[in-house]
Amino acid sequence: MVSIRGRLAPSPTGVLHLGNARSFLLAWLDVRARGGQLLLRIEDLDGPRIQTGAADAAMADLSWLGLDYDDGPFFQRSRLSVYRDALTTLADAGLVYPCVCTRKDVESAASAPHAGDEGLVYPGTCRGRWATATEALQQTGREACWRFDTQAAQHAEITIHDRFLADRVWRVRQELGDFVVWKKDDEPAYQLAVVVDDAEQQVTDVMRADDLFSSAARQELLYLALGKPSPKWAHIPLVVGADGRRLAKRHGDTTIRSFREAGRSADEVVGLLAFWSGLRSQPLPCRATDLLPDWALEKVPSEPVVWSGAWPDLSS
Ligand code: GLU
Repeated sequence: MVSIRGRLAPSPTGVLHLGNARSFLLAWLDVRARGGQLLLRIEDLDGPRIQTGAADAAMADLSWLGLDYDDGPFFQRSRLSVYRDALTTLADAGLVYPCVCTRKDVESAASAPHAGDEGLVYPGTCRGRWATATEALQQTGREACWRFDTQAAQHAEITIHDRFLADRVWRVRQELGDFVVWKKDDEPAYQLAVVVDDAEQQVTDVMRADDLFSSAARQELLYLALGKPSPKWAHIPLVVGADGRRLAKRHGDTTIRSFREAGRSADEVVGLLAFWSGLRSQPLPCRATDLLPDWALEKVPSEPVVWSGAWPDLSS
């Protein structure tokens, strides 16, 4: 019986860059080195940000890098009814409420919301005002999203145990706030979709970049609310540009596709990612499978990886 099950979950909002590729390589190694299974999930719910062809491109890049999977691809867009059922479960338990606030409303709310990791901590303006989104629409003329009600939830604090980062206690109401689980455009928000999927797809181990660390706390609340076991978390550092900010267009073209088109081999890319991850002392070409005997999460440096803008020069 396979007891470890991980996932690769690209969002087709763009093509894979060195940062995503590094997270996927480590997630793949962590599961494969322990004899586990992996699934591929395409997180294609991000409405207008989804790019045509990006899902196929992500699959092609993963395959080029030698990162295989046993199950999937699962497409979130084809599972809307499953997420809707979860929203109904939360609504029946009184754990979500409709909210018509705009971002501007939240920013200017009298109670001076403070910023959490996911942006502003919502001050709860719409809590308890309407039972349904239809009622909210009728009374305000505005479409409603649904927010998780951290006042109704049992937990004032939640502790995230992480295999890589130190344990962290979150003050649920102050630091996380009532986060969105269903969007105004009538689609599930990332937080709900990912929990429903990871639970149903029996994911036991989640490894991803640490910009999603606070999301683990929100997701843990949803697991508790839905009565499902949460996975083991491991959040690894991001790849950043020389300015310390997460990789983006301003750092030049860091897509896997661009390196491939410039003549880099998959082994060269994997070798660089392995070097960045403490698995090799030099950025020399290697295959993902070559790294399996060397894998240990403890080897991964705790500082962000810095992409200087140029491939390391091995001649000096
Ligand atoms: N689809 C998300 C991303 O590409 C990852 C979500 C997750 O790992 O929970 O950033």
